[in-house]
Amino acid sequence: NKPILEIKNLHTCFHTMDGVVNAVDGVDFKVMPGEILGLVGESGCGKSVTAMSILRLLRCPPAEIKGEVLFEGQNLLKLDKDSIRKIRGNAISMIFQEPMTALNPVLTVGEQIAESVRLHEGLSQQKAWEKAVRMLTRVQISEPEARAAEYPHKLSGGMRQRAMIAMALALNPRLLFADEPTTALDVTIQAQIMELMLKLQKETGSSIVLITHDLGLIAETVQRVVVMYGGKVVEEALVKDLFYEPLHPYTQGLLGSVPVIGRKATMGRNLDEIPGMVPHPLAMPKGCTFNPRCKKAMDICRREKPPMVKPAPGRRVACWLHTGKEEMNSVTSGQGG
Ligand code: SF4
Ligand code: MG
Repeated sequence: NKPILEIKNLHTCFHTMDGVVNAVDGVDFKVMPGEILGLVGESGCGKSVTAMSILRLLRCPPAEIKGEVLFEGQNLLKLDKDSIRKIRGNAISMIFQEPMTALNPVLTVGEQIAESVRLHEGLSQQKAWEKAVRMLTRVQISEPEARAAEYPHKLSGGMRQRAMIAMALALNPRLLFADEPTTALDVTIQAQIMELMLKLQKETGSSIVLITHDLGLIAETVQRVVVMYGGKVVEEALVKDLFYEPLHPYTQGLLGSVPVIGRKATMGRNLDEIPGMVPHPLAMPKGCTFNPRCKKAMDICRREKPPMVKPAPGRRVACWLHTGKEEMNSVTSGQGG
């Protein structure tokens, strides 16, 4: 089974007046067909920039992207602008936190969905409009024909989010990036919209990368989780393993008081406050970037970057506490702290 997306050694930096900001620093991960992968971390950890780099949505310069982004085996970083535009919104779509940034304010909701459908599928204007209305119906917007004729600002936040999902899914993407797709909405609507996204995902068999700081959402939605900190992947595991026994002190901090076994994490619950601040991107700590906030930091943590190790099948973690444990078959209790 081949991954639909494989990120290898992704580096994204921004050239600023104050220096070079390494926002994404050697990120690797894979997404399998039909899988929902969670990408988590506090804001500023590089998860959105990772997604924007993969989709080539950053202006270069000031951004500079290196590494490989293999989508169905093709390196997206090597494609010319026309080819990447064709893939975006067709094979790959993105749903953002704030729909107003993605929706065109001067086109009605129906016009913009119809326009993208028309361009990608070569439909007539009439047929494209009909499809737009059908998509609005599928995302459970009531009176879809009337809504299609309205401008985005006339719709409620929840409805705009549905309209954006309709637009993202209208082209049957094989891969969908959803960046904090429901964060701006109230909890009931969040749950409805997630349910809807998952339903549409099941129907089409597409893969989703769900970017969020909402652990309840992760617990209920994804199969596998990649945890980022300071522009790097610090841990990866199946969601049940991660919640049962987080290995990285950062993940442990994030999970903090989140109810785990036998109790359901609730949607809308954010990451636990971890003492200290996300490091300034221009002043990354030496060694492990988490060391100033880590209760378990040792001398070596302040000197040298921890290597990525695989302490158990399907798991990886970048932390000095876990080096030398590669031979273990199962993860035992106690995180060595
Ligand atoms: Fe903490 Fe050291 Fe592990 Fe970093 S490498 S998370 S500082 S114990
Ligand atoms: Mg973000």
